[in-house]
Amino acid sequence: MTSREKLQSAALQELARRRQYAVDVVEHRIDRLNRQIPAFSLCRDTLTATRGRLARIIVRGGEKRDEAIAALRAENKRAEENLKRLLAENGYPADYLEPAYTCPVCHDVGYVNGRACGCLAALKSEWMLSELQKAHTLQGYSFDDFSLTYYSDRTDRETGVVPAEHMGQILEYCRHYADGFTRQSDSLLFLGKTGLGKTHLSLAVAQEAAKKGYVVRYGSAQEHLRQLEREHFSREQSDDTLDVLLDCDLLIIDDLGSEFPSSFTAAMIYQLIDARLAHGIPTIISTNLSWQELEERYTQRVVSRLASSYLNLRFLGQDIRQQKRFDG
Ligand SMILES: [Zn+2]
Repeated sequence: MTSREKLQSAALQELARRRQYAVDVVEHRIDRLNRQIPAFSLCRDTLTATRGRLARIIVRGGEKRDEAIAALRAENKRAEENLKRLLAENGYPADYLEPAYTCPVCHDVGYVNGRACGCLAALKSEWMLSELQKAHTLQGYSFDDFSLTYYSDRTDRETGVVPAEHMGQILEYCRHYADGFTRQSDSLLFLGKTGLGKTHLSLAVAQEAAKKGYVVRYGSAQEHLRQLEREHFSREQSDDTLDVLLDCDLLIIDDLGSEFPSSFTAAMIYQLIDARLAHGIPTIISTNLSWQELEERYTQRVVSRLASSYLNLRFLGQDIRQQKRFDG
């Protein structure tokens, strides 16, 4: 099962649980009313019996079928009215025995006329956001929380670029990217020193994609690889993490280079980058390594893919975390 199918199945399971709960509540109420009000129990029996007879006549047909159906329908209607009257007399609302579904549109089925209901999408995005939250706090990491005041508005002598303007463009680009995110979006490479907002913008994109119900997996290179290593070398031979990292709609590898360098980690990074590019599914990688350092660590093959198939965004400025610390 792919991670998208798992998300879908988790959401449908939750809907089934809600549906069952709504039905159970009604069953419980009927039980109680049967005990409390003898007339209620009789009335319910009549309803069940007339419905049964009605179904049999419809199936069987025969002479005077229409008359029999009309008579039963009338009897059924009287029993229903009696039931309503009994509820009212005993102080219960008219809809007391109607299941109170969470979603009034699809009655917690998830589909209406073969189309996915809004509640299904909402459930998926809620579930995905809470999964994301387990990997990293999302508090303070939205696009609106990204402040350009920490970037200098003076031209940088070395590059001839104004960091605040340049970062404003990157912010706009990422916003646009997140707005139009699909499983076919481009892959992005965030380059630049520590503390320039790379994690912030990748989490902002992650949140927006998750809100749309896409399966997003976020983690630092160290976290992803530690998990892969644990599963790879464990006796259970579970490849769950690798499957998810290979097929999720958006994979974010933050801080590439933070992991312990080994032939295993280098091979894994290559596999993730290569396989996802081959399937045309987006990845966002951030790193504070230079091109030369990347090449030394991950070979030319990785570097050439990152340079040619990823959209490269260079983050500029002074370490924001340090500035915030001084601002205290
Ligand atoms: Zn619904």
